[in-house]
Amino acid sequence: MLKVIVRRCKNYDREKIKRIIYEIFSSQKFLNRLNNLDSVLLKPNLLGPYSPEKGVTTHPEFIAALIEILKDYNIKISLLDNPGGTVKYEKVLHDTGMEDLSKKYDIEILNSAISGIRKFRRFTSVRQLPVRRPDNPRFNRGGMEGGADENIEYIISKPVVECEAIINLPKMKTHTLTLFTGAIKNCYGVVPGLAKSNYHRIAPNPTEFAKIVVDIYKIVKDKIVFNLMDGIVGMDGDGPSSGDTKNFGVILGGTDAVALDFCASRMMGYNPKKIPTIKFAADQTQISLDDIRLIGDFSENFVLKNINIRKSKITNLILNSFSTPLKNVFQKLFWAYPAYNPEKCTKCGICVKSCPTSALKISKESPIPQLNRDKCILCLCCIEMCPENAAYLEKSFIAKYLIK
Ligand code: SF4
Ligand code: SF4
Repeated sequence: MLKVIVRRCKNYDREKIKRIIYEIFSSQKFLNRLNNLDSVLLKPNLLGPYSPEKGVTTHPEFIAALIEILKDYNIKISLLDNPGGTVKYEKVLHDTGMEDLSKKYDIEILNSAISGIRKFRRFTSVRQLPVRRPDNPRFNRGGMEGGADENIEYIISKPVVECEAIINLPKMKTHTLTLFTGAIKNCYGVVPGLAKSNYHRIAPNPTEFAKIVVDIYKIVKDKIVFNLMDGIVGMDGDGPSSGDTKNFGVILGGTDAVALDFCASRMMGYNPKKIPTIKFAADQTQISLDDIRLIGDFSENFVLKNINIRKSKITNLILNSFSTPLKNVFQKLFWAYPAYNPEKCTKCGICVKSCPTSALKISKESPIPQLNRDKCILCLCCIEMCPENAAYLEKSFIAKYLIK
């Protein structure tokens, strides 16, 4: 049986978080393991240059509480994430509070661009869907016959492959592409920025993309010694970056990422068995989802109140509908495309550089990036990576009505 511990925690009071993490470690009999560790790599969610209050990235006080415990055990600590697209790592570290954290506690922040990469063979067969282009007859015939099984390699940051152990520090959020983002999806951050866009291009369909996420998770799984989820403040609605900041008031911890995601997503109101990353990861790591137990301050089936997961479910349905035989009908009724708010857009060009299919352009004449809908594969990278929250998903009237 796999156990996950949940504790109530209303704010980022470091001393309180420290007590909770210590109790979680203790109840999972993890303190003995700490005695035997020389070094650990922390893997927070540093999606982009967001301030900690936005609920997008793992909060620095949460990480600080963990660092203080690890220091008591004389463990050498380093930290690494790979923000998406072409966002500058230094800016992300500054804006998310990691730069200050590194100075205060003298911990090493690793940079995959400098530290190198390792390559791995793909495990799972991913059914590639054709890229949407007017001149692409495979797509125009309905999208189902795609299936070229391109022989891809996974690119992983070298320090991740070579480290002794990882503590995975996900954030509790909705995700319009994968429904929910937690411990499994946080492992996707071991892929350096621009390589991520390439995997979106290879698997634009959300379900196929989930297989890639699970493949990456499997590469690093054996390194992960513990998963601690920052669910104190997270995000619902159009997560992972342009949704609504929400105070969930919880911390979850456990040794298994699948079990942790199972419990956290159920607390948010999802049916975890229908979340592709959880389903595929459980299948491939021989975990029975019926053998997971939640222990702590809430009952097993407790669901947090007033959490909007509906937006992520409808958007996910729309994105998946593009690869069904009824694609053309769906598309007329439930279309969704990225759009850009001219009042917020600074024309920084991050979205353009992050787009895996070159569907975006910036010109002097236009105040916002110009989208070529025929090239867009709806990977939503431009929305995730926009530092100004200027990019959003524009939906058809019916789609908006359903979300309401
Ligand atoms: S939409 Fe966002 S990422 Fe794109 S150019 Fe405007 S501000 Fe930059
Ligand atoms: S325009 Fe945005 S959603 Fe469309 S393919 Fe490019 S990055 Fe993805």
